[in-house]
Amino acid sequence: MNVWVDAHAHLDDRRFAHDIGEVLERASSAGIGAVVSAAVSLASCQHTLKLAGLFPQVLAALGIHPQEIQGSLPEIDILEDILDADKVIAVGEVGLDYYWDTTFRDNQREVFRSQVRLAVKKNLPLIVHSRSAHADVMEILGSEKVDIPVLWHCFTGGVTELKEILVRGYFLSIGGILTFPKASHLRDLVRSIPPKRLLLETDSPYLSPQPRRGKRNEPANLLYTANYLAEEWGMSLEEVREHSFKAFMEAFPASQRFFNRW
Ligand SMILES: [Zn+2]
Repeated sequence: MNVWVDAHAHLDDRRFAHDIGEVLERASSAGIGAVVSAAVSLASCQHTLKLAGLFPQVLAALGIHPQEIQGSLPEIDILEDILDADKVIAVGEVGLDYYWDTTFRDNQREVFRSQVRLAVKKNLPLIVHSRSAHADVMEILGSEKVDIPVLWHCFTGGVTELKEILVRGYFLSIGGILTFPKASHLRDLVRSIPPKRLLLETDSPYLSPQPRRGKRNEPANLLYTANYLAEEWGMSLEEVREHSFKAFMEAFPASQRFFNRW
């Protein structure tokens, strides 16, 4: 069996509060068998777990996003406890973001490092957010003896960054940006990413692909990005689905048991 999987979305976002059931129905009709919903804060972790309990196709990634980190450090112990909950398949979305604000850079680094350690301790894959912080993210991951799968989400870097990520054996996921008219550089780069390392994501409700740009994004829109990828790789959509499903299973081996339930 293979299905489309949206490897990264934020289904707990308030923009889905009124119609999440319909959003997930549209995803299923588009052939999307699972959506990884990534939390961004402790409150968002609780909400994400609730959604995973309500909807069979929702898998949970729990973590604290760098943009949520300010002056006081979050309670990592609480995160550690809830990582044992059913349907938690990863620690995420975690990482570093220096794009808008570097005031709390040290705190970001500390919280990222503790979450990397948690993922290693719990043997859970890690979903990484890196924006204007490539070197620091690589440094922390490199110094922590990470022996779990790492997924570099929403990759938009250059050739040097891509090489570094691939050499480390990490996975990457790309989303709607691939369809943007100005993203020809990214479209060139994806041709050099081995299919077994590349996952597809939407990052819903953000980053809608080109035909839907400016509107709320949702998992069903994954297919727009998949079509662009099929063109860049010179493959059929079915081949892209097969490759990205395999890559997903490699990156998130624990999710296998949920696919078997359906
Ligand atoms: Zn995200």
